[in-house]
Amino acid sequence: REAAREILESAARRDTNRLGVEAMSLLDAYGIPTPDGEIVDARSDAVEAAERIVGGDGEDGGGGDDGRGGDSEVVMKIVSPDILHKSDIGGVAVGVPPEEVGDTYEDLVTRARNYQPDATILGVQVQEMVDLDSGVETIAGMNRDPQFGPLVLFGLGGIFVEVLEDTTLRLAPVSEQSAREMIDEIDAAPLLRGARGRDPVDEASVVETLQRLSQLVTDFPAIVELDINPLVATPDGAQAVDVRLTID
Ligand code: ADP
Ligand code: MG
Repeated sequence: REAAREILESAARRDTNRLGVEAMSLLDAYGIPTPDGEIVDARSDAVEAAERIVGGDGEDGGGGDDGRGGDSEVVMKIVSPDILHKSDIGGVAVGVPPEEVGDTYEDLVTRARNYQPDATILGVQVQEMVDLDSGVETIAGMNRDPQFGPLVLFGLGGIFVEVLEDTTLRLAPVSEQSAREMIDEIDAAPLLRGARGRDPVDEASVVETLQRLSQLVTDFPAIVELDINPLVATPDGAQAVDVRLTID
């Protein structure tokens, strides 16, 4: 809780009410699993971060061994409070091999500058690859309704969330029972439960994430909006791969 307070206060000091992946540590502080990642602001630091991330002990094996030789690859994302939808401006590079990390760092910063010359660029996030093939991209979020309070949202995530609109809402705090119901309610529920010979995802870990998110937004009324998209649900657990939030 203290760690979370510190993160929100430092954002307020920076005079911004929007936070992106620089707020990943807020999720960590509430026990919501996130892939290994680091924000850097120099090309050489990006290379070092990538080496550390792929060379680590690999204890949670987010990259998976799918035989495609992708174990040394990382994901890189522009980090800027002025760029809310990173992939819209080419600000997300997935599957970057070690020899391209340096150039990709420069590319991402250039794209952000071209998109908005006066954008505040905090750096580039270098992140562990998450195995999307064995997982489902879901969204877990919160919108504070002026009348009802914090509404926790769950649904099918990824880049099609607006198109498919397969989501459901509950007022926070969300009980374990309601979190389970939320999963039941979405049309994509069979996808999470092993449709077409897939392994079912770890539902308990999705339930836990929804409850932890609900706790976070209950503890901090200053958070008016928060989206974890995607929350990648796999048979081995759920991981928050991207986050953005608005504080007031
Ligand atoms: P944004 O939503 O701002 O465009 P995201 O961080 O959500 O940026 O990345 C966009 C998409 O890129 C995700 O929905 C996911 O499909 C893919 N992606 C992002 N991070 C990873 C990762 N660590 N491993 C695998 N795929 C990723
Ligand atoms: Mg996203």
